[in-house]
Amino acid sequence: MSFDYDLFVIGGGSGGVRAARVAAQTGARIALAEEDRYGGTCVIRGCVPKKLMVFASGYPQMMREAGEYGWTVHAGGFDWHAFRSKLQAELDRLEGVYRKILSGNEVDTFDARATVVDAHTVRLGSGEEKSAKHILVAVGGHPIKPDMPGADHGLTSNEIFHLDELPRSILIVGGGYIACEFACILNGLGVQVTQYYRGAQVLRGFDEEARGLVANEMIQSGIDLQLGTNILEMEPAEGGFRVKSTDGGEKIFDQVLFATGRKANTGGLGLEEVGVELGRNGEIVVDDYSQTAVPSIYAIGDVTDRVNLTPVAIREGMAFVETVFNGNPTPVDHDLIPTAIFTQPEMGTIGLSEEAAREQEEIEVYATSFKPMRQAFAGYDQRVLMKLIVSKANRTVLGCHIVAPEAGEMIQLVGIAIKNGATKEEFDRTCAVHPTMTEELVTMHDPVRTA
Ligand code: NDP
Repeated sequence: MSFDYDLFVIGGGSGGVRAARVAAQTGARIALAEEDRYGGTCVIRGCVPKKLMVFASGYPQMMREAGEYGWTVHAGGFDWHAFRSKLQAELDRLEGVYRKILSGNEVDTFDARATVVDAHTVRLGSGEEKSAKHILVAVGGHPIKPDMPGADHGLTSNEIFHLDELPRSILIVGGGYIACEFACILNGLGVQVTQYYRGAQVLRGFDEEARGLVANEMIQSGIDLQLGTNILEMEPAEGGFRVKSTDGGEKIFDQVLFATGRKANTGGLGLEEVGVELGRNGEIVVDDYSQTAVPSIYAIGDVTDRVNLTPVAIREGMAFVETVFNGNPTPVDHDLIPTAIFTQPEMGTIGLSEEAAREQEEIEVYATSFKPMRQAFAGYDQRVLMKLIVSKANRTVLGCHIVAPEAGEMIQLVGIAIKNGATKEEFDRTCAVHPTMTEELVTMHDPVRTA
């Protein structure tokens, strides 16, 4: 049977574009459909604009610090409109880069929504149908709001980059990556930030000591973090929105941002009708090779709700191409993935938290928390944390948790050692770089706890 294409990719985000490019380089005939902007969540409404906002929000502290170092600094205000125009221009540029990657590799692109008709056919928004030997679904996810009165008035991370004005005050609902990152960003930009999180501590699932320190630093920097508190309802009111909360309180905020999780974009794609299995939250169920219940249909990235991170989607795309186009079955390795939360200070983490490691085996915990030289000199009380979780049985470092400025950069490098099974003694054999914060990772001689 002959097909129009060897592969039809639905979704032009990081995962889909990488898979299309690498598959095209094998000589295969590839098409890709994207209904929105090329680059997907990461480039258009996630990691990239978020990180640029992190940078923008860091300057007030840097300027205060500069003053403490003897500089005379005259800080003006923050010009949101100037920043937003530059940000949008940068995203336009990046979208162009993504389109060029595809055209440069002779991938046929369709600026249209595509749905699945059968195991080998997709239908474009125009009604046109295309056949393909394989279909790769890489359509990502979208933010969801809680089911409560007035939720429609709230923002999500999709809208935050497009605001006409920065609000004077904002309520952020949630305690995950997005909630904590935007609490810090907006606080840094001068917005009065309140954050409601329904649980006992933000960043559930991460190392307790690390999340505790991030939360403390967030509070110290002026964020009104209310734990054990949730929003009940919101309605428009004079000066913004009136919010009722579970603690019986009622407050007015200029804006409300829901960062209450994300859901796979599988609605209306025709997947279940052709036999693709969906999980409880609408995610596509796949095996270790990203293959769905329909053998010719594969899925990668957030739509599969495995580890929802851009570099993971990219690796899933590469493993798919290796398996299907290079005849080399390659399972996706989801073990020991380093990640960073771009709060202020950042958290960089890889491997097991102290709590999870303790459940698994006997461990030694090496940790130190201190005021870093740069901020201490400027008179700040900010603390950082360097922490290693070590297996007692074989001395392997099972986890590393860093809370510090630039922790994202640090964990990338430590991650190489830990991914490759480094032991505590191998860390110790490495000479310290002095004076740095991370030198502590190779100079901690005695465990602070064993468990
Ligand atoms: P998360 O799933 O991380 O967090 C959702 C938060 O919302 C949790 O604190 C959750 O509480 C809370 N929540 C869920 N439902 C409700 C509700 N009905 N009422 C009140 N609170 C609620 O989702 P995010 O949206 O923050 O991020 C999604 C994913 O995107 C992340 O898991 C991550 O994979 C990725 N991401 C990665 C980033 C990075 O690498 N730096 C940055 C941003 C996102 P509870 O804990 O009680 O369930």
